[in-house]
Amino acid sequence: MTPDQLIAYDKTHIWHPYTSMQNPIPAFPVASAQGVEITLETGEVLVDGTSSWWTALHGYNHPVLNEAVTEQLGKVAHVMFGGLTHAPAVALAKQLIDITSENLQHVFFADSGSVGVEVSIKMALQYWLAQGRSEKHRLLTVRSGYHGDTFAAMSVCDPVNGMHDMFTGVLIKHLFAEAPPRSASPAQWQDSDIDAFKTMITEHHAEIAAVILEPIVQNAGGIRFYHPEYLRQVRALCDEFDVLLILDEIATGFGRTGSLFAYEQADIEPDILVLGKALTGGYMTLSAVLTSRKVAHGIGSDGQGVLMHGPTFMGNPLACSVAVASIKLLLESDWQTRVMSIETQMREELSACLELDIVADVRTKGAIGVVELKQAVDMHWIQPRFVELGVWIRPFGKLVYIMPPFVIEPAQLSKLTQAIFTVVSEFDQQAMQNNSGK
Ligand code: PMP
Repeated sequence: MTPDQLIAYDKTHIWHPYTSMQNPIPAFPVASAQGVEITLETGEVLVDGTSSWWTALHGYNHPVLNEAVTEQLGKVAHVMFGGLTHAPAVALAKQLIDITSENLQHVFFADSGSVGVEVSIKMALQYWLAQGRSEKHRLLTVRSGYHGDTFAAMSVCDPVNGMHDMFTGVLIKHLFAEAPPRSASPAQWQDSDIDAFKTMITEHHAEIAAVILEPIVQNAGGIRFYHPEYLRQVRALCDEFDVLLILDEIATGFGRTGSLFAYEQADIEPDILVLGKALTGGYMTLSAVLTSRKVAHGIGSDGQGVLMHGPTFMGNPLACSVAVASIKLLLESDWQTRVMSIETQMREELSACLELDIVADVRTKGAIGVVELKQAVDMHWIQPRFVELGVWIRPFGKLVYIMPPFVIEPAQLSKLTQAIFTVVSEFDQQAMQNNSGK
């Protein structure tokens, strides 16, 4: 197929994430990717500002990761996990147990972030069932959260931008506290910031199995950053009221926010931790749900301790092998320095956007840079415009944001920030013309 034929067939027959078959935004065909660059079938080379949705920390086509997959491919690509095990799964479990908080000692491998969230919820519910506390069956979360697109995960996504209206009567109704107040600096904490959450847990703890949260950074619900003190107090309240704490680090894990895991910034331990996305360095879909001995051994209403979940591709050896190699590569690299310098450069360069009327806020946290606009962008216009400028940036709603691979060079990062400034300036001009009725 020529690139044009490929684009046309794709547009007619294939759904892309959150798109319509009636009015699809054409997808750009990728021929290959190397390092921080994506090459299109049509010849353009784009600097990647997305890490393919928080996954490709080391960039694309990495020799060490390729080697890990190839070596495993020569042994076994997949084998069922029911009744069988293998070295890549054991190596990955050990690595994850070693790098996460002391209390997390047990691992369940699922096949995507959303499924990992489902498993974490099931763990919490089964735990309370086994304790004879079936009344503890609800979840408490905060607004502006995002935890995935499967039904249990959707039920704890923000009720306004998380499809709750579409599935009224289908989604289980859980409890929502106000979103954690945004925070740009440690000085911004006020004791009243936790009040709304405290009220909810105080009033409802008897029926709450677990609190589920994205630590420090709320991702798809608005890329909002909040204060570690909030998380510290959530942990303390969960302890006080006998509620489990599930942390969804699917987006924040593996260095993205400046610490290996975001919860470290609050110096706490979760009861259940969900990892995904960057777990395999962006090579394959895999998630891991870690939990404590208390939860793992506390599960089992039938007396056998059976966790009722078992996806077909659980613990896929190729995915586990590349995850082991990716984590090793990360830990052996100077990722903290890289993430810090990405943050500094983004903060300096993106601040130019603040002079534009259309810009509501500019914020950075670790290797995440956000320009929040006052109105939503038109994807049909903005996406091809970024491609024209030689960058791959995928805005959503009012958010133009980047979370590049950690291996990005300063000149490549400047290309991303300059493209953002150019495109947002153009959008600003368009908005001014519209408002003046021209
Ligand atoms: N939780 C968070 C915090 C996420 O950012 C995402 C993905 N955007 C998910 C869960 C769902 O993961 P997946 O898309 O792999 O199902």
